[in-house]
Amino acid sequence: MPATTAAAEKLLLQMVDDYTQREISPYDMSMDAAQDFPKGFVDKLTKTGFLGIMLPQEFGGAGFGPEVTATVLNHIARGNASTAVTLEGHFKTIDQILKYGTPALQQALLPTANDRIFAFSMTEASGGSNPMGISSTATREGDHWVINGDKIMITNGGLAQVYCVLVKTAPTELSVFVVDQDMPGFSFGKREDFIGLRGTPVGEIVMDHIVVDNDHLLGKLGDGGVIGDSAHDDARILMGAVLTGIMEHELKISTDYAKERKAGNTPLTELQVTHRKVADIAMRKETTKLLYQRAAQLKAAGQPYSEEAAMAKAHGSRAAVSAGDDALQILAGYGYSREYPVEHLIRDARAMEIAEGTVEKMRSAIAKAEFTK
Ligand SMILES: Cc1cc2nc3c(=O)[nH]c(=O)nc-3n(C[C@H](O)[C@H](O)[C@H](O)COP(=O)(O)OP(=O)(O)OC[C@H]3O[C@@H](n4cnc5c(N)ncnc54)[C@H](O)[C@@H]3O)c2cc1C
Repeated sequence: MPATTAAAEKLLLQMVDDYTQREISPYDMSMDAAQDFPKGFVDKLTKTGFLGIMLPQEFGGAGFGPEVTATVLNHIARGNASTAVTLEGHFKTIDQILKYGTPALQQALLPTANDRIFAFSMTEASGGSNPMGISSTATREGDHWVINGDKIMITNGGLAQVYCVLVKTAPTELSVFVVDQDMPGFSFGKREDFIGLRGTPVGEIVMDHIVVDNDHLLGKLGDGGVIGDSAHDDARILMGAVLTGIMEHELKISTDYAKERKAGNTPLTELQVTHRKVADIAMRKETTKLLYQRAAQLKAAGQPYSEEAAMAKAHGSRAAVSAGDDALQILAGYGYSREYPVEHLIRDARAMEIAEGTVEKMRSAIAKAEFTK
């Protein structure tokens, strides 16, 4: 039985579209320049209830499934990708607490996910692609665990209040604990000066002797690799959705422009070179949309979706960069200017060839899945 009805889903998407048009799109350019969300932006977003759309109703959420959740991020990203990526980081973290948290941890934490932002932290200075390279540890002391370490490049780092953290519980054993920014020993470090998705805070968290009880462990000791992979899978579906939104934005800018602009006496819309570019942008957008929706459908049906999620992000990230390049060329000089959003959409899309696993790692995962067939 679906937790939500088709009418509720339609209403949600209408609300999302209205809110995006009114409260998110107008800040798309200024966020990029200011490298932050505007003052009060996150509080307002929190009041919409969007933070809880995929949270089950028993925790006070709206209980929408993976397909609707991804589509919401698709629609928000049409207006601004940073806002959608902040929600992506939040949703993938909630997903891991739902899959691996004890009932006590879920009861304590998940109702707060309606108005507190969550984040998932794996990367350290020693490397992101190789989880075994991390140095953060959780050490057993009596009934408790003591967590030490330093995570960098964390989406929502500095903004989120709750963090899942990948640590070593033995030299070759990875585990995931949940920590709260209010815990003694927790602090924020440097915010990254990234070239894209500049509204989203991406930053460092420092854990200095944070004491947690066993309920803060996700899954079992040694499940860290599996939980990290699961977080990536969930994130990649959502990133496919965000990338689709970016391409819809790129398509709109370039078609609007082509309808207005003439090359001599010939409208750009009548030039074959424009047709080629617009058609390619549209096809890249549509293939990415189909890929993320397919992965979300498999997830909703309880079937494996790891390979399909990797395809959505691996294909979608390069597709959105290339689509942005075509859009820039249609606008030509204006496309190359910071006065138009095309150049920042390319920078935004480029992040997704790196975040949530690099495209190289995803291609390896896709190829390995194919070898086993
Ligand atoms: C916008 C943004 C948001 C992010 N958000 C988060 C977050 O929320 N949480 C988090 O934990 N991290 C986050 N990251 C960090 C991100 O996950 C890492 O940057 C990524 O995993 C790559 O790690 P690295 O940068 O250390 O590169 P490295 O791991 O040092 O990789 C360097 C190069 O080697 C290649 N490479 C490495 N190993 C392999 C391999 N086995 N096979 C093939 N190629 C390989 C890589 O593809 C890459 O080209 C974010 C990054 C960005 C840009």
